[in-house]
Amino acid sequence: MSTSKNIDPGSASKIKTHRKKVPAVSTLIDGVLSGDKMLLARALTLIESNKNEDRADAMQIVEHCLGINPNSIRIGITGVPGVGKSTFIEAFGSAITAQGKKVAVLTVDPTSTVSKGSILGDKTRMENLVRDPNAFIRPSASGASLGGVARKTRESILLCEAAGYDVILIETVGVGQSETVVHSMVDFFLLLKLAGAGDELQGIKRGIVEMADAIVINKADGANKKQASLAKAEFQRALHLYPPKSSGWIPKALSCSAINNEGIIEVLQMITDFIDKARTDGYLESHRREQNKYWFLQTVDSLLKIEFYRQPETKEKLEVLLKKVESSEISPFRAAEELLKTY
Ligand code: GDP
Repeated sequence: MSTSKNIDPGSASKIKTHRKKVPAVSTLIDGVLSGDKMLLARALTLIESNKNEDRADAMQIVEHCLGINPNSIRIGITGVPGVGKSTFIEAFGSAITAQGKKVAVLTVDPTSTVSKGSILGDKTRMENLVRDPNAFIRPSASGASLGGVARKTRESILLCEAAGYDVILIETVGVGQSETVVHSMVDFFLLLKLAGAGDELQGIKRGIVEMADAIVINKADGANKKQASLAKAEFQRALHLYPPKSSGWIPKALSCSAINNEGIIEVLQMITDFIDKARTDGYLESHRREQNKYWFLQTVDSLLKIEFYRQPETKEKLEVLLKKVESSEISPFRAAEELLKTY
């Protein structure tokens, strides 16, 4: 089977698909619900669209996908560039499909553009998974703001679940705010690390470690094996010192060699244990309910902003007030209050 046949057609040639006729919404909904990869990709393109006129269709699709697959598992994977996220996802995703399950991989990368280069880069880093009929890989939605990308990713999760994907992996590229955003949309948050370099050197903030349900030391192979084992033990001790999680789960430290496919099954087993526990004690359901409330408020917030700045009166007054603030004719706070009066 050739790789090109399996590349998610909606994303690998986004520019091209925009020119193609978009199928009817009902066709897209039926396609997604029947697990048709091509139509899922087209539906995701609609979700990711920044065009106002696409929004109603996108919402209609999302609504049909709600609650279709409540047994799905959402896993966030983060770590600095070069830690081995793609290599790990390739091995981890294959371990999931080997168990007869379907896996979808989404990425949150607010800096990504619809450039062919970065998309193909992602694809070639997951060569086997791309060819796996039970895997679906979609690079990050593009957008000017992290909030916009986050909303699109969240809706994409729902579509993938409705299309029958049992496990959704959400990779965050880079370091910074995107980890927090991904944490707010997953059931389990995994931090990949390297042995030997301090957190500061690896650009990892303490807050990220606190959010993690597990730390996995990657590249535990060759000369690095012993160091990885030490780092794992050290983390296991340190993780006990962090404040307890509302899930009641005590974060774990593991090590693996993504490239040699070692320790991957153990990571999968650990997450399965977490999910089993969280399902039994009701945490999973209550956590998702909380996340839904959070996303509702986040969306209200961003829609209000869009709506507000779109108004011609706002635009006009904003210009005037900016000049007044610049020349100290008015305080920034008074100016903000004045501007809000236009709404
Ligand atoms: P990402 O930027 O976090 O997605 O990292 P990649 O998956 O692209 O990996 C970065 C580099 O590390 C590549 O050259 C990989 O081959 C290498 N790499 C990834 N996982 C391992 C591992 O388990 N062991 C070793 N030795 N190298 C690895």
